[in-house]
Amino acid sequence: MKVLVINCGSSSLKYQLIDMDTETLLAKGLCERIGIDGKLKHEAAGKDKFISEAPLKDHNDAIQAVLNALVDPEHGVIKDMKEIDAVGHRVAHGGDHFNKSVLVTPEVKDYITKYIELAPLHNPANLSGIEVCEKLMPGVPQVAVFDTAFHQTMPEKAYLYAIPYKYYEQYKVRKYGFHGTSHKYVSQECAKMMDIPIENTKIITCHLGNGGSVTAVQGGISIDTSMGFTPLDGIAMGTRSGSIDAAAVLFLMRKENLSVDEMDRILNKESGVYGISGVSSDFRDIEEAESEGNKRAALALETFAYRVAKTIGEYVATMNGVDAIVFTAGLGENSGSTRQLICNYLGYLGIELDSYKNSLRGQAVEITTKQSRVQVYVIPTNEELVIARDTKEIVEAQA
Ligand code: AMP
Repeated sequence: MKVLVINCGSSSLKYQLIDMDTETLLAKGLCERIGIDGKLKHEAAGKDKFISEAPLKDHNDAIQAVLNALVDPEHGVIKDMKEIDAVGHRVAHGGDHFNKSVLVTPEVKDYITKYIELAPLHNPANLSGIEVCEKLMPGVPQVAVFDTAFHQTMPEKAYLYAIPYKYYEQYKVRKYGFHGTSHKYVSQECAKMMDIPIENTKIITCHLGNGGSVTAVQGGISIDTSMGFTPLDGIAMGTRSGSIDAAAVLFLMRKENLSVDEMDRILNKESGVYGISGVSSDFRDIEEAESEGNKRAALALETFAYRVAKTIGEYVATMNGVDAIVFTAGLGENSGSTRQLICNYLGYLGIELDSYKNSLRGQAVEITTKQSRVQVYVIPTNEELVIARDTKEIVEAQA
């Protein structure tokens, strides 16, 4: 079975075509600047990279361009679009309705529409990706895989905010959590690497990229996570503040006479390590500035590590112990120095990093010494593969 995985953002679209009989990646690519001008970068195994700068005025153009690239005689990997058996879509928000991936039906689309108010930047693009695929590939089953679904196992005490209960009842204001597909994948891979049934494990997964979240995975299910009602909550991120005293937000709005939208922009786009360092939201730039003696860059990196370590500590308490900690995503997979900074706080867990293993890149590896009481792993995330696996399973169950 060949599954096309689509991850549709408002102005970008990532895709992979995966042969699910062997879990082999056949082709992957990225459409950027959708609605502005347009650029498609396409890569297929054993073929030259292909870049097209044809205009992409909307998601329809983008997905059509993807399909054209996939069947292109020179750069493509299939002869006919009909070879695509199913499409799996990443969907940001499934509210409290979806605790697993589902086949797309008109009712599912209604729910995705309903949850636009909870994910105004992402759900509209995700929905548009689904609708365009339905139009361009009629009859091909579409599956929705929600970023929030894995966290639906959190108990009430973890997801409720201590505000008047009516706001939960009326508006479903509660913690949802995100990056669920990634936390699920790396915790499952970690249990396999530990060779312990996942039901018997306590794992803390740290998805550290431009956005970041930490999750307590006990017995294979999420019992708490650092992102909240929105992806703003939790640890500090590239440009997002993470948790902040709500009264500080009110104070700033009053002091500077800021509108809701202005405050929203400050918290989401001007904060995090970018806000502290004043250098960049990209950790590579901040690490470079720090190595040149920039004190605020050093402070940003230390604050970031401190907050991740503090969250890990919370989850050790929540689960009454931990067997393994996993680092994943752009920063978690690539920055040995950030992992070291975080693990410097974890001596009480008997964690000892092996500096050689901590310097390895691009592979799933345990990075602790033999003496370390708790194991630490780097596991490259693969959200697309999880989406394709869920899609295959759901489509086969329908047959
Ligand atoms: P993601 O959102 O998972 O794509 O992660 C992107 C982020 O990972 C970038 O903004 C960088 O801050 C970080 N990153 C990627 N590669 C490295 C690296 N080699 N060293 C430090 N940070 C990195």
